[in-house]
Amino acid sequence: MEVRLARKRGFCFGVEDAIELAQRTVQMNEPGKVVALGPVIHNAQVVENLEQAGLNQSGDLEALRAGTTVLIRSHGADPETYVRAAEKELGIVDATCVLVKRAQTVVKQLHEEGYRVIMIGDANHPEVKGVIGYAPDVIVVDREEDLDAVLPKRERLGIVAQTTHAPEHVAEMIGAIASRPFRELKIVNTLCLEVVRRQEAVAELCDEVDVMFVLGGLHSANTRELARISAEAGMPTYHLETWAQFEPRMIAGHRVAGVTAGASTPDYIIDEFVENLRAVEPAA
Ligand code: SF4
Repeated sequence: MEVRLARKRGFCFGVEDAIELAQRTVQMNEPGKVVALGPVIHNAQVVENLEQAGLNQSGDLEALRAGTTVLIRSHGADPETYVRAAEKELGIVDATCVLVKRAQTVVKQLHEEGYRVIMIGDANHPEVKGVIGYAPDVIVVDREEDLDAVLPKRERLGIVAQTTHAPEHVAEMIGAIASRPFRELKIVNTLCLEVVRRQEAVAELCDEVDVMFVLGGLHSANTRELARISAEAGMPTYHLETWAQFEPRMIAGHRVAGVTAGASTPDYIIDEFVENLRAVEPAA
């Protein structure tokens, strides 16, 4: 079948750096001495490869012994994690993406300038859980219908967003916040351009294909966002982790397939998928 690729897809620099740092740290330490506080990235295949290389990724900070090295993953961590790691005499290797670090710094600065910080994001996402630790009482909100319940009235509000969110969603939320009573609004753009470019590319690809495959971890926020954009454009869309999840019915009656991938999806998964898809003929 004919297959077209999104012009921007797959690994971002933040994920590449985090994986490289994790691999180097494991090589430089004794087996079992490096522990990541959760999966380094949201991709099951990469996580498994790192486990096989000797990286424990189910780390519970409190259970670690002095001398162990803690790897802070690309999503970052709250300040308390660094303090506890130092108190427990653990080594720290920090793989937090520079853009997540910037969001953490912005939140701290907004608080110091007297703003009540509002973060547009998913409260359960590890990046958000870490970022909100850099100021007290940060409000996390992701749906317009929740604003009335959580938004303080007539305050000075400082707004940031989860790095992987879509600009359109963030703009809608900011518009909704601005339509409520506030004293002052300061918005700092914390969106990741790497993610935005992948979102633009999948939207463009929707004009050229009649079925879309979005490759990446099922828990990966930026991959799910790509799938949402494609589905909202009316495209039959399949979010898969690897070729193993492909089923011929997915392409039945279609002529041209689009393929894109989230920022935590390695090239070899994309290449294998595209090669296999090109070799199959859709049923009429
Ligand atoms: S998607 Fe953006 S913010 Fe997230 S790790 Fe990659 S470069 Fe950093």
